[in-house]
Amino acid sequence: MPNVYAFDHKHRKAPMEMKDLLGGKGANLAEMTSVLGLPVPAGFTITTDACRAYMHGGWPEGLTGEVERHVRRLEKAMGKKLGDSSDPLLVSVRSGAKFSMPGMMDTVLNLGLNDASVKGLADQTSDDRFAYDSYRRFISMYGRIVLDIPGEEFDQPFEDAKRVTGVATDAEIPAGDLADLCEKYKEVVERATGQPFPQEPSDQLQGAIEAVFRSWNGARARAYRIREKIDHELGTAVNVQAMVFGNRNDNSGTGVGFTRDPATGAQGEYGDFLVNAQGEDVVAGIRNTLPLSALQERFPHVHTELMEIFARLEAHYRDMCDTEFTIEDGRLWMLQTRVGKRTGKAAFKMAVDMTKRQDWKPPRGVKLTIDKPAPKPWQISKEEAISRVSADHADQLLHPQFAVRPSNLLTKALAASPGAAVGKVYFTADEAVAAAERGEAVILVRSETSPEDVHGMIAAQGILTSRGGLVSHAAVVARGWGKPAVVGAEKVRITGRSFSVGDITVAEGDVISLDGGSGEVALGEVALSPAEPTEEFQSVLKWADSVRKGKMAVRANADNGPDAANARRLGAEGIGLCRTEHMFLADDRLPIVRRMILAETPEEEDAALEELREAQKLDFVAILEAMDNLPVTVRLLDPPLHEFLPSIEELELKAATSGLDAEEQKLLGAAKEWREVNPMLGTRGVRLGVIKPGLYAMQVRALMEAAKERLAAGGKPRVEVMIPLTVTREELALARSWVAGAVESETAGLRRKLDVTIGTMIETPRAAVRADEIAEVADFFSFGTNDLTQMTFGFSRDDVEGRMMAAYLEAGLLKRNPFETIDQPGVGQLVLDAVARGRATVPGLKMGVCGEHGGDPESIAFFRRAGLDYVSCSPFRVPIARLAAAQAVLADG
Ligand code: ADP
Ligand code: MG
Ligand code: MG
Repeated sequence: MPNVYAFDHKHRKAPMEMKDLLGGKGANLAEMTSVLGLPVPAGFTITTDACRAYMHGGWPEGLTGEVERHVRRLEKAMGKKLGDSSDPLLVSVRSGAKFSMPGMMDTVLNLGLNDASVKGLADQTSDDRFAYDSYRRFISMYGRIVLDIPGEEFDQPFEDAKRVTGVATDAEIPAGDLADLCEKYKEVVERATGQPFPQEPSDQLQGAIEAVFRSWNGARARAYRIREKIDHELGTAVNVQAMVFGNRNDNSGTGVGFTRDPATGAQGEYGDFLVNAQGEDVVAGIRNTLPLSALQERFPHVHTELMEIFARLEAHYRDMCDTEFTIEDGRLWMLQTRVGKRTGKAAFKMAVDMTKRQDWKPPRGVKLTIDKPAPKPWQISKEEAISRVSADHADQLLHPQFAVRPSNLLTKALAASPGAAVGKVYFTADEAVAAAERGEAVILVRSETSPEDVHGMIAAQGILTSRGGLVSHAAVVARGWGKPAVVGAEKVRITGRSFSVGDITVAEGDVISLDGGSGEVALGEVALSPAEPTEEFQSVLKWADSVRKGKMAVRANADNGPDAANARRLGAEGIGLCRTEHMFLADDRLPIVRRMILAETPEEEDAALEELREAQKLDFVAILEAMDNLPVTVRLLDPPLHEFLPSIEELELKAATSGLDAEEQKLLGAAKEWREVNPMLGTRGVRLGVIKPGLYAMQVRALMEAAKERLAAGGKPRVEVMIPLTVTREELALARSWVAGAVESETAGLRRKLDVTIGTMIETPRAAVRADEIAEVADFFSFGTNDLTQMTFGFSRDDVEGRMMAAYLEAGLLKRNPFETIDQPGVGQLVLDAVARGRATVPGLKMGVCGEHGGDPESIAFFRRAGLDYVSCSPFRVPIARLAAAQAVLADG
């Protein structure tokens, strides 16, 4: 296989579909050249294969020869030679990976200039200023990128030259001073590297190609890939392209253009350009740019041609395109295009707009400039529109966000719950509540949160923790409420009523801002853009629902009436997980639970259970009402009992200082008695039921009473009772007998039959492996992928995710955080096995997923392929799951 392809190579398939090999930039340059026939400076692409070979074994054998052949071909096409002292060919050497990584890798312009060819360029153009301006740009770019010389070394001489000549802008520095500057730059290079600036163009070229290969593994690029979840193994392609000069004269310029507004999605071109400028000048913000519309006056022909090209690009890519162009002495050249990035709002608007016929006609009296028929009208299908929007786009419309890049970034940690918030920091739940009552906006900062902090979390606008992972208490609770949260910020050191990050200290009452969608935390107030689910957003979601109807349902995880009602409003089709422990943690319930744990006689225990039953029943009524005629999965009590007991440390501290009363004394005893070395693997889930059988029976009775009450009120309750943490069939059979018994006794003699099923979570590896047996006694399975991931990896979620995960991702030991996106080869395999085994016993056994993965688009696609009937996620995630489920159905056929 060749390592190098010319832009006009006749590929067997459309080059734009060969991004793996040619990189995005190279693939689209080839597409514009060979398929669309647009004016693109000639050039060639060195493949990502060559880059990967370079990363593993150095400069690939034979590459030098291939590059040389392509350079000769390019020289012939252009009628110029690299390094020629009378009329030199100059090239750019451009990075370009499969996925666009804007600004993360490097590009060298004006390559081929040296002390001789710069004179040739000057003679040929009769423009010394231009020639030496190009040379000084080349030396500094090459010095910085290829020779690793800090950019500032070149900035100083440049500023000096501007000062000495007394000019205001770069473009006004006279030719002689630019020539002097080139000499100074060469001295900088020689001082830094001990070698003269390379004069031989083939050396320059190999140096630049290698530098681009190397830039793939630069710190910037690696960090970007981790954030964007791009594989480190892909490598970048390198594009070598004949230069065109926007800095040639005042009849030249350079710009960037979008075929629609990428911020709003509005139709009509959008962009910026600069007269007499090169490459990055436009984005570097050195000079004030002109809007694209100003091209019309300044370069009317170019403007018309560009509009025609925009129409062709859109019709060809059937999407909004982002372009780079340069005007050299009045002639337009296209330097890059790709399907452009866009905001959430724009993504939804464009997706909906493009389902209507897009028709472009040249303005009256204007002839087409490209010798091809005008682009044909086009439109996309609704299915296509659904696939055009992403979860990130939807998130932007559902939550407020940072409207600008924060300038005082403190840290970036785990993005636990999307949305942005600004407020004064407080360090305890009580202080947070007090401040909120005074009318302040509050950010609650804790090392981690526990159920005791819940009132502070409610009062806060946003939550920041220094410990814990994406399924820590803070993260799960915040997501459930749609409240912004950043967790696991290990750089945040909390000491009493302040925290520090490096040498910056933030005290109680100081203002910070956080964005739970990006994980950013900034000092001071950052401007926010509000949540605005647009009309187009609603349309796309409606289309999505009809696509996935009957194929994949979306439910919510909700534990009370208001959350359930909210979930239904957001489109949930039932509850996939109602965690009954959350009902036990409320202020008025906790003492009763504690009484049950502390009970010394069966009578005391029964009395406490009775009280709990009353309370739970009210909750269940509210939930069943909110979800009338939709399935509601109620999970019986799951967490280790000690979670309901006070902290031993706190009680002991109190014992040592003010002393304990009799009640507290007993609590301390119980807390010690229930203390476990490894509570998450201890007395919890169905095991708890085994040692306190009255507990599950009580919960089911409360649930049945609630259901009966709903029936009597004319409602249609649909109840699914779920047993957590099952490991064996026998265990489930036993738990099932309690549940069935309670259902029987509660519903005997009812005239209308109650719709009740009994199933289990599959969240231990053993349950997955023995799912065939377990299915014998289950009416449904719900995969608890949080615990399943934790137990399959042997990763304690809260400990490993906050502390180790970043290091693992950084080192490439894991490609993805398995708590965020399901680990398909490992945990996913267990899911696939369990589905197959379960359905071998009971064909068509109903199955869903209720772990955090139920709201993650990539995981949802996997669950669809695995044959699950529904996913369940936090209410605020429901719209995204609806979209992702439809996309999964579409991808699956
Ligand atoms: P990035 O991927 O960071 O945008 P590019 O490879 O696109 O980097 O190049 C950086 C700048 O140089 C862009 O403004 C581009 O238009 C310009 N440029 C690249 N190649 C050429 C060329 N052959 N002639 C003129 N300008 C070029
Ligand atoms: Mg570019
Ligand atoms: Mg679990």
